[in-house]
Order: sequence, then structure tokens, then C-alpha cells
Amino acid sequence: MSDANGNQELTQRWQQALMDNYGTPRLPLVSGEGARVRDADGREYLDFVSGIAVNALGHAHPAVVRAVSGQIATLGHVSNLFVAEPPVELAERLLQLLGRPGKVFFSNSGAEAVEAAFKIGRRTGRRHMVATEGGFHGRTLGALALTGQPGKRDPFLPLPGEVTHVPYGDADALRAAVTTDTALVILEPVQGENGAVVPPAGYLAAAREITRATGTLLVIDEVQTGIGRTGHWFEHQAQGVEPDVVTLAKGLGGGLPIGATVAFGEAAELLAPGHHGSTFGGNPVCCAAALAVLDTIAAEDILDRVKRTGERLRDGIEGLGHPLVAHVRGAGLLLGIVLTEPVAARVQQAAQEAGLLVNAVAPGVVRLVPPLIIGDDEVDALLGVLPAVLDEAAGDGEDRRSG
Ligand code: PMP
Repeated sequence: MSDANGNQELTQRWQQALMDNYGTPRLPLVSGEGARVRDADGREYLDFVSGIAVNALGHAHPAVVRAVSGQIATLGHVSNLFVAEPPVELAERLLQLLGRPGKVFFSNSGAEAVEAAFKIGRRTGRRHMVATEGGFHGRTLGALALTGQPGKRDPFLPLPGEVTHVPYGDADALRAAVTTDTALVILEPVQGENGAVVPPAGYLAAAREITRATGTLLVIDEVQTGIGRTGHWFEHQAQGVEPDVVTLAKGLGGGLPIGATVAFGEAAELLAPGHHGSTFGGNPVCCAAALAVLDTIAAEDILDRVKRTGERLRDGIEGLGHPLVAHVRGAGLLLGIVLTEPVAARVQQAAQEAGLLVNAVAPGVVRLVPPLIIGDDEVDALLGVLPAVLDEAAGDGEDRRSG
């Protein structure tokens, strides 16, 4: 469907049939290629959201299409009663990239990857856990217990576990909260949902030293940062830290649902047979897609490209000198435009009207998480429309203040 009333019709249908979990109008999209997507009216957009940091290789990448169609035509699903080659190969490849022997558990999402880490923590026999204020780890109850955003937690109290949330980036606060009764500390290397918040240098290393001293597991949640998003395979590697558990999802499957919980050393032995499972986890089609993503990132030097494009994007936006932009923060292609006014929703709307998809992740922060394959052309296209978009959003802001 792609006609003049396509958006309106699809919108009416989803409003009838789907739960409104997000409370905002959603643009109906019908197709995509590379960093471009098309809506149901046939209008094209430059995609700097990429399914919330998921479509690492963009839309309809030939390597992913080939891998998925080849695998579904060969063996689409086997369940956890059997094993297929793609999950075995993917686990081997992830461990190789992570650089240490360990064990992988596959699931279907970021929240599930964190749930498995939560259960590993419980198996230490300790109950207390430490997470960060503003941190996001998913919406299932265990992951939500670790999430440090009250608006998402409060409707579901009490949540499992005994979790202390400490200010993100504050090593002293972490040291004060972690004891020999603490099962795990979970941290994002850059807080994604909180608006691309980068901790001070040395924070992850301090967390490693603190957790080592108390025999506490260090879980690094790389669901958003992992698989090249920051210009490294994994951001914790760039920080020179060896966690006990790493969680992955989002970009790993290049658009297919997959989560992975990777455990090292003793942490890899804490879940015994019968303790955990998933019917779909390790699905061969999703694993084949993930292998295509890893192959393509390696073959096309995408990590270097992410570093270069990320810098160009950040410098370009700051270089606009627009009064609505305070600064740009983040790492690689996980960036947050920090605004001088809380008008991110208006920036998102004005951008969409100008044919650019961005994400208002907080009232004062616009998140950019484009496909990792973007180049200078896409960056320049964004920089070309952004000044007018920001003018429009700032203009609305003035209207609101005077009204
Ligand atoms: N952890 C982090 C760091 C995330 O950014 C997210 C998703 N935004 C999750 C966990 C949860 O992932 P999912 O939505 O796939 O459950």
C-alpha cells in the first residue's frame, strides 16, 4: 500500500488494533533501502533512528536478505531441544570478537539478555544488585528492576530484587553502594535511552576494580552500544575492561530479533541445566542474519567508518552554531543533540516534516542512531536540513512562551 491516503488509513487501523504503549503518533513505514525509508503515502525519509539502533547495515542490506532467505529455506527453526549450526557459529564468532573464552545464551531481545544476566546474578546466592540512575535495561520485570527511570518502574512496584540505583558516572557512589553482599553491578558504557550520556573517563575501570574487590559480577549492558555502534565491536573493549557478563541485542541481528548474554569465567557456570531457557533463542534465521552483520562490519571496515562519520556528524552539528544546540554528546554513531530548551519533541516533528527521522529521547535531547553504513552524503543531507528544522522548533518554543 502506497497512496495519498496510505498513512491515514494505516494509522486508523493500528489505533484500532494495537495497544498504544507509547502515547505518540507513529509514522507508518512500508519499505526501506540503506538509510532511506518510505511511508505509506510514498514519501521518503532519511533514517537517523534505524529501528532504535537496530538496523546496523541499514534496510534491506543484500547480505542480510541473502542470509535470511537462505536460512529460512534450509532450516528455519529447531527449538532448544536441538541445535543448528548458525547459533554455534555465531557464539564462536562473538567469543572470538570478545577475545576471551566464555559461554553464550541466546534469546530474542535486549530485555531477555538482561533477564538472563539477572538470573546469573541470583545464582551467586547474593540478592543485592547495583544499577544506575537513568540507566535502561528493558521492560520485563527483572530488567525493569535494574532500570533506573522511575516513570517506567513506578507503575509496577514492587519489582524483584533488592536494587540500589546510584548516580551514573560517579565511582565514589558506586564504591559506597557495593558490598560483599552485592550479586552484580550492571552498567551501560554509554547510557543510550537516557540520551547518549557518556561517563567520565575511567568509570568502567573503577567499576571493575570495585566489583573485583567484593567478588561482585560486573555486567556490561552493550545492548545499544555493542556491535560497532560506538566505533568498536564493544565499547567495554575500548575502555580496557573485562566484564563477567556482557548483554547484546539491537544491532546484532541487523533487524531480526536476537539477544545474547555472554558470561565469562565462573559466571559462565552459574546457570545449571534447567535454570533458564527460550523456545526461540538461537533461532537459525536470526543467527544467520547476525553472522551476515558481523561479516559485513568486518569486510567493509565499518568500525573505522563509524568513528569517522560519527565525528563528522558531531562536528558538523556543533559547527552550525545554532542557538538551540548546547552541544552534542555520545560516542561513534550513538549521539545526543543536547538542546538549550526542552523542545526535542518539536525537533523530531519538524525533522519528520522535512524528511528526516530523528528521536526525541528526552525533553531536551534528540538522539541520532543512524545505520552504521551511512557516509558523508547522509551526514551532509542531515546538516543541510537541520538548521531550518531547529529554527522551526525554536520558533514554536517562542510561540509557546508568549502564549
Ligand atoms: N538495554 C539497553 C542498554 C537498551 O538500550 C535496551 C533497549 N533500548 C534494552 C536493554 C532493552 O532491549 P529490548 O527493547 O530489545 O528489550
